[in-house]
Amino acid sequence: MQLYQTYLQHPIICTDSRVCPSGSLFFALKGDNFDANAFALSALKNGCSYAVVDEAEYAIDERFILVENVLESLQELATYHRRQLGTKVIGITGTNGKTTTKELIAAVLKEKYNILFTQGNLNNHIGVPLTLLQLKPEHEIAVIEMGANHPEEIKALAEIAEPDYGIITNVGMAHLEGFGSFEGVKKTKRELYEYIYKAGKAIFINKNNEHLLKMAVDSGFVVNNENVISYSLDKNSSSRIKAVVTDCSPFLEMKCFIGKNDSFDISTKLIGAYNAENVLAAVTIGEYFGLNKEELTAGLEKYNPQNNRSQLTITENNKLIIDTYNANPTSMKAAILNFAQMNVEGKTLILGDMLELGEQSSAEHQGIIDLLKQNKLADVLLVGNNFRSTNNPYTCFDEVTELINYIKNKPICNKYVLIKGSRGIKLEKVVPLL
Ligand code: ATP
Ligand code: MG
Repeated sequence: MQLYQTYLQHPIICTDSRVCPSGSLFFALKGDNFDANAFALSALKNGCSYAVVDEAEYAIDERFILVENVLESLQELATYHRRQLGTKVIGITGTNGKTTTKELIAAVLKEKYNILFTQGNLNNHIGVPLTLLQLKPEHEIAVIEMGANHPEEIKALAEIAEPDYGIITNVGMAHLEGFGSFEGVKKTKRELYEYIYKAGKAIFINKNNEHLLKMAVDSGFVVNNENVISYSLDKNSSSRIKAVVTDCSPFLEMKCFIGKNDSFDISTKLIGAYNAENVLAAVTIGEYFGLNKEELTAGLEKYNPQNNRSQLTITENNKLIIDTYNANPTSMKAAILNFAQMNVEGKTLILGDMLELGEQSSAEHQGIIDLLKQNKLADVLLVGNNFRSTNNPYTCFDEVTELINYIKNKPICNKYVLIKGSRGIKLEKVVPLL
């Protein structure tokens, strides 16, 4: 493969012609609004050594590598490279908690192995191959996040990454515009199990989650076989790896059990009991790869979320749970329930719309209002047209700028504030005022 030889000599990949490290290899991808073939020449001028293009008219000298389809070439190159190195790959998908679980798994495995893991949220048809192309012979394990908002996306990503192990964190209501229904969500996520089953490899599974169990069985797995490595948040479960939440006001603390005789405590810097399943997944995978209790706890205790996901920030005026990174009905409910159960004073909620829910949007937003009422949460500020259209007793704003003006006139002080909404609502803009 000629492209592979070029890549081996120029292993830094670049897809943005404005940011071209010297000697890198440019891939001229096509987006909805651009065709990077047109930027290939400037990528070379800005430092790239070669440019992969798929429009013959741009391939004007030997520095251009003309292929059928740049995206497919990138993906094929990534698969080829991954096969050459033979690194163990763990693929991770799910509705909520992929990035958090991936970071926790990485934090744990780092204690013993040289690992590569998806940076940030680069979890799509471009991010997955770009991550795989960072694999080096010294990497022992790769943890690859796979995201989807349409059917067959996970199948395609699994075929690119060829994971040896798979984990689905959970399944819930999200991206319903793309998936159509909860059934659609499950079908797509299940593609990871199906791939792993056909490849004869193993999955890690939360035995508490009946949806995941059914999806695994439907994919061909037999739950108690050794290629199904389970964990559970039910102390009475038959899983070898179990845990219970011992505290979450505010930080999550857990007691973990391995087999019949071994147990240990974990203190995390994560907010939210819902993170217990993410932590337990990391414990299970770490233990599977031979880490001892000390290594497991050390890795987990070092992990400090810095990414607007379940992050506690203490300002001069307030204590903030910043969760402005994303929101869907499942994660919104988990965050609200966790907040309602926290043993703290002065609870205030700033909630933004949950986007991309299609037809089910108004019912799901109303469901959140009902949950707030049931949990007697009174101090609530809502942002977005979807929340505004619900039947609710709270203060509503169309946009975050209106909320900002409101808070400027009526500052929020000495409160414990949960801030959560879809990224499109941009609730992070209120944080400086809190
Ligand atoms: P994306 O689809 O954007 O990549 P993700 O699946 O990677 O999201 P994270 O970024 O890890 O998920 O978490 C996003 C938010 O989801 C968290 O801040 C939290 O509110 C919620 N969340 C995380 N884990 C869980 C869980 N196990 N159950 C419910 N909600 C969760
Ligand atoms: Mg993510």
